[in-house]
Amino acid sequence: MLQESFSKDKRNLRSILLSADFVVVGGGISGICAAVSAARAGVKTILVQDRPVLGGNASSEVRLWILGATSHMGNNNRWSREGGLIDEILVDNLYRNKEGNPVLLDTLLLEKVRNEPNITLLLNTAVYDVEKRSPDEISKIYGFCSQNYTFYEISGRLFCDASGDGIIAYRAGAAYRMGAEEKQVYGELFAPDKGEYGELLGHSIYFYSKDTGKPVKFVPPAYALEDIKEIPRWNRIKASHFSISVIMRCCSASGGNGTRVFLKISNPTKGCAPPIAIA
Ligand SMILES: Cc1cc2nc3c(=O)[nH]c(=O)nc-3n(C[C@H](O)[C@H](O)[C@H](O)COP(=O)(O)OP(=O)(O)OC[C@H]3O[C@@H](n4cnc5c(N)ncnc54)[C@H](O)[C@@H]3O)c2cc1C
Repeated sequence: MLQESFSKDKRNLRSILLSADFVVVGGGISGICAAVSAARAGVKTILVQDRPVLGGNASSEVRLWILGATSHMGNNNRWSREGGLIDEILVDNLYRNKEGNPVLLDTLLLEKVRNEPNITLLLNTAVYDVEKRSPDEISKIYGFCSQNYTFYEISGRLFCDASGDGIIAYRAGAAYRMGAEEKQVYGELFAPDKGEYGELLGHSIYFYSKDTGKPVKFVPPAYALEDIKEIPRWNRIKASHFSISVIMRCCSASGGNGTRVFLKISNPTKGCAPPIAIA
C-alpha cells in the first residue's frame, strides 16, 4: 500500500532525464522507419509517441493504408512499390494478418520496435517543447506522459520530427510553409490550379458499413449543422462507387477546435430511402 500524509505544499510530478544519439518524435510509419533503421545501424535511439499505439495514420486508431506508391491504382503506378522497411512491414503483415485486421498491424509495428534493443520507446508521451544549444541546433526536447504523470527531458545529438504536425520544427523556430504552393514555384506541370484544389488536404472520413437488413435511425447530436452547405466543401458519396449511399452532416462542436462529421449510411440495394437531409 502507498500512503502519504497531508502536505501543505503542492506536490511535484516525477521528472526523468534520458539521452540518446538519435531522438525521434512521432511513432507513425515515418518515425518507426527512422528509429528502426537507426537502431539497426547501431545508433542508440529514443522513439517518443503521444498515442498508446504505434502507426499514426496507419494504426488501428485511424486505419489508413500504407500504400502511397500505387494508391490503390488511383495513380496508375501499378508496378510501383515502397521498398525497404515499408516492404518488410507489408510482407510480414500479409503473412501474419491476411484478413487485414488493423489491431494486428499495431502489434506487428510494436514488435518491430521492441525487437530493437537500441530503441527506448515512450508511448503516451506528447512532446511539447524544445531547448536549443545554438540558434540552429536542438539540444533537448520535453515530453509529458499522461498515463504515468511523468515529465521526460530528453537530450540528443540528432532529432527527427516525424510528428506529422511539425511540432519540433515549429517550437525550434524553423522556417515553414503550410498549404499547397503555386504551380510555378517548382514548375510542376501536373500541380492543380488554385481554385481546382484547396490549399490544404481536405478531411477524409474512414468508416465501415454494416448491412443491418433494415434502415437504421440516426439521431444527430444537437450541435449538428442543419445545412451541409455551411461548410466550404462537401460531397455525396455515390452508391455506384461504393455500393452504399452516404450523406454527411457536419457538426461544429461549440467551443471545440475542429469540425466533426457524422454520417448517415443507407444501403440502396436493400431499398432504403435515398439519402436526403437528415432530420
Ligand atoms: C485522410 C488521409 C488519407 C490518406 N490516404 C493515404 C493513402 O491512401 N495512402 C497513403 O500512402 N497515404 C495516405 N495518406 C498519407 C499518410 O497517412 C501519411 O503520409 C502517413 O501517415 C505519414 O506518416 P507519418 O509517420 O509521417 O505521420 P503520422 O501517421 O501522422 O504519424 C505521426 C505520429 O506522431 C504522433 N505525434 C504527433 N504529435 C506528437 C507529439 N507532440 N509528441 C509525440 N508524438 C506526436 C502522432 O500521434 C502520430 O502517431 C493519407 C493521409 C490522410 C490524412
